[in-house]
Amino acid sequence: MRHTANVLFSGSRGCLYNCHYCSNSQLRAIYKGKGRYARKMSVGKFIEAAAECRRLFPKAKSIYFTDEDFFARPVEEVCEFAEIYPARVGLPFECMASPLQVTEEKMDLMVKAGMWRIDVGVESGSDRVKREVFNRPATNEAVLRAAKIINSYRQVVPYYFFIIGNPYEERADLLETIRFVGEMPPPFFLRAYSLVFIPGTKLFEAARRDGIITGLEDSGYEIDFLGGLDHKGPSWKSKNLYLNSLLALMAGRFTRSWLGFLPRRLVPALTKARVVNFCDKHPSIGKTIINLSNIGLSVRHRGLYLISKVIKNKRIIYGAKSPEPEAGEKSQKN
Ligand code: SF4
Repeated sequence: MRHTANVLFSGSRGCLYNCHYCSNSQLRAIYKGKGRYARKMSVGKFIEAAAECRRLFPKAKSIYFTDEDFFARPVEEVCEFAEIYPARVGLPFECMASPLQVTEEKMDLMVKAGMWRIDVGVESGSDRVKREVFNRPATNEAVLRAAKIINSYRQVVPYYFFIIGNPYEERADLLETIRFVGEMPPPFFLRAYSLVFIPGTKLFEAARRDGIITGLEDSGYEIDFLGGLDHKGPSWKSKNLYLNSLLALMAGRFTRSWLGFLPRRLVPALTKARVVNFCDKHPSIGKTIINLSNIGLSVRHRGLYLISKVIKNKRIIYGAKSPEPEAGEKSQKN
């Protein structure tokens, strides 16, 4: 695949956090007593490896640094990276970041180095779910603070990740998530992942203890978590089907008028208690919305693929306001 347009590369292993649904929580347990579980390349070695990727894939247009939290590096290392990377490698890059690690200083440096897209895990707009179910320390307040910083960089495309189809969420949690995403500063993209109970994780064990799953068979481990919400999957996927279907419909671009495929002005009416009650009594409504959102997602993926054949600048495809600067160009803020 030497002609690939986007090269994936990671300069670290493990993660500083311990989210109960994530395979890293299992890796952490496996590594117990066997040395450092979370480890990373030095900046110099990392950049040399990235340069090697560029040499191996001369037609690559961008790199995706798949480190679990690229922003976890201390600011001195980010500074060193921003100094060397543009001249040594120079490809625009995408990376993942915890909301807790996003600061203006690091954003300045990453943008200077050539970051075109940032992927931030939010997972739920319910602080209760994040705290009690996911064991994630980033509260809504912390996410909003990070989102406001990111929003001020016009040439960066923000992607926020959410988990849907989670049987531990109650109606109030989902309504809180819907309210919260409406509060985040647009434009940005929302990606909705369908929860799977990964064998060996703490959440898998909890779900088994709580009688939500019986074991591997109904854990949903084989579900394509990127393939949209699958209401035909295990029975626990049917809980709060309607509100989850609305979140599925929100996957995509958020603007002042649109939340993904959903017009923003319709949200208050669609989340009224009597509408939710009615739709919960008629699961075919949620199923129809999910089917529509899955069709929409598939059409959009194909459309984006075709567009990317013609327009090479990803920032333009994703609607970032400013044209793509060369890696290393001075950052432009609103
Ligand atoms: S922050 Fe991400 S990679 Fe790290 S443990 Fe949580 S889900 Fe896993």
